[in-house]
Amino acid sequence: MPDNEIELLYSKPKSFVKFLSYPLPLLRTVSKPKHIVLTSHPGRSGAKPIPIHWGEIDPLKRGPVIGSLSKSSHRNAIGTHSGAYSVYRALAIASGALQADHRPDFTNTSPAEHIGPHPSWGDAKKIVSLDPFGGLVSEIYTSFSQQGYDIRPTIAITKAHINMPEMQDAVAKKRVLVDGKIVKAGGNLAVTKIAIDPVWYLPGIADRLGVEESALRRVLFQQTGGMFSDLVTRPDLHVFLPPIGGTTIYIIGDVAHISDPDKPLAVRVHDECNGSDVFGSDICTCRPYLVHGIEVCIETAQAGGSGVIVYFRKEGRALGEVTKFLVYNARKRQEGGDRADAYFTRTECVAGVQDMRFQELMPDVLHWLGISRIDRLVSMSDLKYNAISNSGIQVVDRIPIPEDWIPADAQVEIIAKKAAGYYTLDQVPDVKILAETQGRNLGD
Ligand SMILES: [Zn+2]
Repeated sequence: MPDNEIELLYSKPKSFVKFLSYPLPLLRTVSKPKHIVLTSHPGRSGAKPIPIHWGEIDPLKRGPVIGSLSKSSHRNAIGTHSGAYSVYRALAIASGALQADHRPDFTNTSPAEHIGPHPSWGDAKKIVSLDPFGGLVSEIYTSFSQQGYDIRPTIAITKAHINMPEMQDAVAKKRVLVDGKIVKAGGNLAVTKIAIDPVWYLPGIADRLGVEESALRRVLFQQTGGMFSDLVTRPDLHVFLPPIGGTTIYIIGDVAHISDPDKPLAVRVHDECNGSDVFGSDICTCRPYLVHGIEVCIETAQAGGSGVIVYFRKEGRALGEVTKFLVYNARKRQEGGDRADAYFTRTECVAGVQDMRFQELMPDVLHWLGISRIDRLVSMSDLKYNAISNSGIQVVDRIPIPEDWIPADAQVEIIAKKAAGYYTLDQVPDVKILAETQGRNLGD
């Protein structure tokens, strides 16, 4: 097949069929005609890429995930590393600030704490949205790197101290005790923090959605504006590095206790809410709930167990902040004002759905940590609880946010959620309470 003419092999409809590559001189950046290959083909260069046997517990048999761009014939994954930040990397290269062929030096970057391997790492059904070996690639795949393969970590583990004004207050009020190890003077909290980039095993993702892999690949291709043509042309590649936000884990207490069934464990799975988490907006309960989660984690760690906060970049129920702010306006401006009985309807009017977080992928990270039981799940979300329980993790207690931690304007959200089936120790709000629960007007 000529270099400048690429056929889509995977999709059936003929309307889809042919792409022509663009001659680069159109971009006026090079003088010699070159071609951008819009898609690749299995065996195009002769050599087949290293296969990935997802779910294989031996990382050498599983094979490394190679999404780097330095040698196209080495690539065995669709997309590229760094999630959403790959676009910024493109800008850095386009502007000349970064060399396209830069190879990272990973000296001294290895994990600061030991996690796994756990049996879940060898289960193709338990973990489908991250690479369980993503933090260990520099150690495990040394021989491949020496052969010239550009293998990059998708997980990094480090140590930190965090400090929040609420912690200082909790220490002052003796709700949180300084022990000198977990909580230090001044409310400094010693944590292990882990950053995870998404790595999707497409057959597993499709299975969680209950759709055919081919249908999933086609919609991913279409809904990203045709960003990754390999999704439809390379049915031999099943791993995708999606350009989305990742996940951060904060571990409080001994990391080894997390998977120890004899030690108590507290968990808060938290979805990003920049407005509240960072800026203290009072329209929702996100930051108070996050702080409450941290307090419960500290308490559990100080009782000999450990605590885990998982922070997902799924802003505004994965609808994004623009949609979220539009919904806020719609809520505040609707006839009758912002009220609990119209809380979910307003989101649906703008976004088409109430929620896009797809919590069925969320438990993967808990399985990666080796969690089999959560003694205290700090969440009221029925979606999160169901996803965790259905994935085989036992949840002993569900911990709601204390009533007096809820900002006044956030009562609309919390009453609507309780009425919709979120976990509550109180009575489920009836129609009258729903209609009566009102928030502030826009601008007040
Ligand atoms: Zn929020």
